[in-house]
Amino acid sequence: MAAEFDLLVIGAGSGGVRCARIAAQHGAKVAIVEARHWGGTCVNIGCVPKKLMVYAADYAAMGPESQSFGWEGAAWRHVWARLISAKNEEIARLNNVYTTMLEKAGVTLFKGTAAFLSRHEVEISPSALDPSAGKQRIRARKIVIAVGGAPSRPKIDGAELGIVSDDAFYLPERPGKIVIIGGGYIGVEFAGIFSRLGSDVTMVFRGERPLRGFDDDLRTHLTEAMTRHGITLKSGTSPKRIDRLSDGTLATTLDQGEKLVSDCVFFATGRHPAIDGLNLAAIGVTCQEGRVVTNASMATSVPDIYAIGDVTDQINLTPVAIAQGHILADRIFGGHDRHWAFETTPKAVFYSQPLASVGLTEEEAAKDAAVDVYLTRFRPMRQSLLKGDDQVLIKLVVDTRDERVVGAHMMGDAAPEIIQAVAIAVTARLRKADFDHTIGIHPTTAEEIVTMRTVTRRTPQKNA
Ligand code: NDP
Repeated sequence: MAAEFDLLVIGAGSGGVRCARIAAQHGAKVAIVEARHWGGTCVNIGCVPKKLMVYAADYAAMGPESQSFGWEGAAWRHVWARLISAKNEEIARLNNVYTTMLEKAGVTLFKGTAAFLSRHEVEISPSALDPSAGKQRIRARKIVIAVGGAPSRPKIDGAELGIVSDDAFYLPERPGKIVIIGGGYIGVEFAGIFSRLGSDVTMVFRGERPLRGFDDDLRTHLTEAMTRHGITLKSGTSPKRIDRLSDGTLATTLDQGEKLVSDCVFFATGRHPAIDGLNLAAIGVTCQEGRVVTNASMATSVPDIYAIGDVTDQINLTPVAIAQGHILADRIFGGHDRHWAFETTPKAVFYSQPLASVGLTEEEAAKDAAVDVYLTRFRPMRQSLLKGDDQVLIKLVVDTRDERVVGAHMMGDAAPEIIQAVAIAVTARLRKADFDHTIGIHPTTAEEIVTMRTVTRRTPQKNA
C-alpha cells in the first residue's frame, strides 16, 4: 500500500525544503524525498561551502597585508585538509538543521531516488548509502519536482579525468597547478579561491572576457583584476582533449593547439537539470533541452505536477528557488498569492574582489531607451596604506525617460552586501534624484552610490 500525502516534494534542496515546510505549516500532509544531501546543492556542494572557502582564501592576504598597518608576525601557512574537515563538520551540522526543521514542521522524510509511476504516484528506490531499505511507494495529490541540477562536462576525450565543483569541495589536497575550464560563476569563484590559497591557476574560457551576461564594464574590471592577481586567462578558446601524462599530471590541449599541463583540470562549464531517472516522459511531463517546462504558475504540462528551481533552468539561484517554493506552497495550500520581484533578482560572484549586480546592464537598458551611465573607479581607503592596485568599480545605469535607476553594478569589497541593499531601491523603481537625496556614510565605499553627480556618458538607444 502506498503512503498517501497531500504534497510530495522531490528534492530537499533550498526550494524543495521551503515548499514542504510552508505547505506543512498550512496544514497539508507533506512528504519530501531526497537522494543525496539534505539541504541540496547550496548547503552541501554549492553556495555555503564555497563561501566558507572564500573566507579561508580571504585570510591569505591578511597576514602579509596587516604589516602595512603596523602588524608583525611569523609567516603562516594554509592547511587544506583542516579547512575541508572544518567545512565538512559545519555542513553536517547544517544537514541536521534541515532534517530537524522539516521534522518539526511535521514533514515526513524519505531517503532515496524517486521515479514517477503515474501522475500521483512515485516509487522511491533506496539510496546507495542505505541499500537495506526496500522500495517504497508514495501517492500524493500534488507533486513538486525540485531536484535541482548537476555539473556538466564538455564532450571531449579525457573529460572524465577532470573534476567538477562537486569534487572540488572534497579534494584531499589543494592542487599546485590547476586549469579551470569555463569563465562563469563557478570558474571565477574557484579561480579566486585556489589562486589566493597558493595554486597556480589558469582559466580557459570561450568568450573575450569572463562572466557572459554581466555588465561589460564589470567584466573588463574583473579581467584586469584577475590578471593582476596572477591568474592566467586564456580567452576565446576551449579544450579539445585531456590526457594523463606518465608523471600523473594532465595535459589539456586547447582548440588552438596549445597544451596546458596541470595537476588538476576543473570543469566549470555550466550545470544541467537533474531529470534523469524521474521517468518524466512516461507520465507526459514536457521537457525541453533537458529542463522541465513550467508556466508562470510553476505548473508543468501535467495537472497537479509542478516544478521549481534549477530543474526549470530559469534563474538558477538559491533565493529564487526558495521564493518559488514559498509561492507555490502558499498558493496551493494557503489560499493566497505572494509575489517577489524576480525581474530585479540581484546576483553576486564571490571572487576575491567580489562582484554584484542588480537590474539591467547598460547594453540591456539601452535596448529600451537612451541611458545615462554614472561610473566611478577608485582606490578604496584600505588600499591607501597597502599601496595596492585594486580599485572599486561602481556603476549606475539610469533610464533617461524617467530618471529611474534601472541597473547597479559593483566590484569591490562587500559588493554583494552593498548591492543587496541597492536592490531594494532598484526594485522600488527609485530615481537617480532619490539616490542623490540620500546622505552617505563616511568614510565608506558605498557612499559613492549616493554621491555620483556627473554623467560619465550617455548611451543612445540601440535601435534609435
Ligand atoms: P555558468 O553558466 O555561469 O558558466 C559556464 C561557463 O562555461 C561559461 O564560461 C561558458 O562559456 C563555459 N562553457 C560552457 N560549456 C562549455 C564547453 N562545452 N566548452 C567550454 N566552455 C564551456 O556556469 P557555472 O558552471 O559557472 O555555474 C553554474 C550555475 O550555478 C550558474 O549559472 C549559476 O546559476 C549558479 N551559481 C551561482 C553562484 C552564485 O550565485 N554566486 C555561484 C556558483 C554557481 P560561454 O559563456 O561562452 O557559454
